[in-house]
Parts: sequence; structure tokens; C-alpha cells
Amino acid sequence: MTAAEPTTEPDEEESAVETARRQLERAAAHLDVDEGIVERLRHPTSVYRVTIPLERDDGTREMFTGYRAHHDSVRGPYKGGLRYHPAVNEEECVGLSMWMTWKCAVMDLPFGGAKGGVVVDPKDLSTDEKERLTRRFAEELRPVIGPMKDIPAPDMGTDPETMAWFMDAYSMQEGETTPGVVTGKPPVIGGSQGREKSPGRSVGIITAEAVDYYDWDLDETTVAVQGFGSVGANAARYLDERGASIVAVSDIDGAIYDPDGLDTNDVEDHDETPGMVSGYNAPQSLTNEELLELDVDVLIPAAIGNVLTGDNARNVNADMIVEGANGPTTSTADQIFESRDIPVIPDILANAGGVTVSYFEWLQDINRRAWSLERVHEELETEMLRAWGAVCDEYGRNDVTWRDAAYIVALQRIAEAHEARGLWP
Ligand code: NAD
Repeated sequence: MTAAEPTTEPDEEESAVETARRQLERAAAHLDVDEGIVERLRHPTSVYRVTIPLERDDGTREMFTGYRAHHDSVRGPYKGGLRYHPAVNEEECVGLSMWMTWKCAVMDLPFGGAKGGVVVDPKDLSTDEKERLTRRFAEELRPVIGPMKDIPAPDMGTDPETMAWFMDAYSMQEGETTPGVVTGKPPVIGGSQGREKSPGRSVGIITAEAVDYYDWDLDETTVAVQGFGSVGANAARYLDERGASIVAVSDIDGAIYDPDGLDTNDVEDHDETPGMVSGYNAPQSLTNEELLELDVDVLIPAAIGNVLTGDNARNVNADMIVEGANGPTTSTADQIFESRDIPVIPDILANAGGVTVSYFEWLQDINRRAWSLERVHEELETEMLRAWGAVCDEYGRNDVTWRDAAYIVALQRIAEAHEARGLWP
């Protein structure tokens, strides 16, 4: 199907809730789902708002607001990140919790979607203050979280150390060590090997599958990656190792380009040394905007959201886009890519390696048995290929985009679970 060229431009940025609801409607249009179930999925189950009193290092008290949104738990406990960011708000948490529901379902993980956070700039807090804030936040959320209820994970502004404090606070109050209450912990207290690199790794695995689907040869595939951070660098290095040619990568300050392929292990990523990418001695420097418009086989936006828009989508020269970041493509850009027959492999599938290895971590915690890195890699590959297979089948069966195919797979699983369980009372 070739969609009509969209006329609305430049596009307004959609909120996370608007995007999640729009995708729900699009998927529902292809399925015979009870309208009552679709209506239920337009809303969260509950949203918790808590006040967190914090004693600052100077002895004064300050109040912070925290949220936790639960979207749907028909397939299992709620799962999703906790972010510390000044822009955190209720609506964003609800929208992102809906995304998590679709992401868990497309991966067939036994989880539903959640998201939460605290309205705070973590850079304004000392380490001690961040620890006190985290412990009190864990205590305020304690009634609604737990390994069988809701399992938070790191997100923007939070990290394995935050999860360690969170798990410790919960465990102390419950009177038993409960590693399964959060994922993304340090391995020494029940975190999983391979967790941090898993979203980038899954982007690499899915890119390789998509290249194969279109009968391209990975050895002859050129790739440009925007954002050489956790997701971008791990995706780039995985694909480099499998034979693809990574011709451009970038950080916030700019991009580097070598038409013969960069040595991705020689370029330091954002974690190793921030700012080293644009400072690397490569044959050519580009802007981030130029990177997005390079004539490559695969473009992987892996930095931030809303970088492919109505303003630049017509100038994109890549033959395929694989979303490493969450929400890098606006809906107007999506329509333009559809009309130009440029496949866009969606974020909820491509970067779902993170939540998948979180699931492995939860299994390891519940069973009190750690897996080797080899096992994590093997099982991640299996799960990614299984999800890719389900989305491919849907893509082949229906005249839809890859994004629609992924949402159809997710919605079908959620709707069937609702049908099977029924409505109580
Ligand atoms: P990161 O902080 O490790 O790296 C981000 C990279 O993008 C850095 O190289 C940074 O310099 C660059 N960057 C930042 N702003 C930019 C801009 N305006 N233009 C160009 N480059 C810019 O972040 P990450 O963890 O790799 O996350 C990247 C994206 O992937 C985000 O959208 C995030 O939500 C998503 N994501 C992350 C994970 C995860 O577990 N890390 C999982 C799923 C999705």
C-alpha cells in the first residue's frame, strides 16, 4: 500500500499518551477486538502520586513529587522504568506506561506496562540526597510495588546504584531480601549479566534480521547511527562484528563519517568518554542533521526522540530505518516514510532487549540462580528472533507498516488475555 503524501507540516510533537492511543486505534482497526477492551486500554488502571519529603545536606526540608502509572496487568505484573527528571509529569508517565504494555506484549513477556519517576533534576542532588530521595520514594510506593505486583527499573536519571538503594529500602521494610522488586541492579545483588548492553544488542539483532528479510547482504550493508551512547554504541559494535560497515556515528556535538567504515571499538562511546565521538579523528565530520540524511542502507536513530520529522523525512536517503531510541520518528515522518516505501522497524521491537533481559533478571532473582553472560546472550537472541518472527508473520499477512504489525501482535495478545480472563465482577 502506498499512503497519500501527508500535507500537514511541520508536525507538532505528540505527547506519549497521544502516540500510545493513536497506535492502539491503528492496531485495533486490523483486529476483531471487543470495543470495551480497546476502551479499557485507552486508560491506565491507576496512577499514584506521592509526596517525597527530603532532608537536604544543609538540614532544610524540601518536598518532591513522584508518580507511578500502572497501565494494564492482564498478562502479569507491571513493569517499567523510574526516571528522575524535571519534566516528569502524570500524563507522560501514563503514556510511557502504555508503551511498556505494548513492548512487553510484542516480546511475549509475562508483564504489563508501568512507568514512574520523580520531578527532580538529579544533577541538583548530592549522592547522599539522591539516596535519601530514592529510599523514601521506595517507601511511598511500597504498597503498590513488589516482585509479583510491579517491578521498576532504571530510566533517565536513574542507574544500577539507584536500583540498589530502592531494593534495599524495600527489603528492609519487608523484612526479607527481595531482589526481584527491581531490575537493572548491580549483578552482585541479583542484577543480570548483559543487562546494560541489551537494548543496543537487540537493535543489532533486529537490524540483522531485517537486512536478511530484504535479501541484503550484511557484509555489504552500510549503517549510520545517531547517538553513540548505550544503545547506539552497542548496536553499532554488534553489527560491526557481524560484518556490516558502520560509516557514521554521532554524539550531541556532531557526527564522524568514513565511507570505508569506522572501527567502532576504536571510537569511545558516551559512557567511556562523553564528547569523544565528535572529537575523533575521522576522515570527515558532519552535523547530526547531515548524518540523518546520509545515503546509507540502514539508519539507526539511537539518541533522543522526535529527530525524524515532517521537516527532514523527505531528505532521508536511507533504505531502512531501525529505531534504537524511543520515539525517534514523529507521526508525520512515519507517514512520509510509508509513502516513500522506506521501512521503519519500530522501537517497541528493536530496543526491547532491555526489558527482555530485565525479565531474565527477574527470573534469576526469583529462582536465586545467576545466569552466565553466554546464556543471557543466547536467550536474548532466541526471544528477539521469536518476536521478530511474529511481527514478520503479521507484516506478511496484512498490508501494514512494520510499526502497525508490531502493535497488532501486541494488541492481539493483550486482548486475548482480557477475553480469556473476563471482566470481574
Ligand atoms: P546515552 O545517554 O547512553 O547516549 C545518548 C547518546 O546520544 C550520546 O552519545 C549523546 O551525546 C547523544 N545525544 C544526546 N542528545 C543528542 C542530540 N540532541 N542529538 C544527537 N545526539 C544526541 O543514552 P541511551 O541509554 O543510549 O539512550 C538513547 C535512547 O535510547 C533514548 O531514547 C532512550 O530512551 C532509548 N532507550 C534506552 C534504553 C537503555 O536501557 N539505555 C533502552 C531502551 C531505549
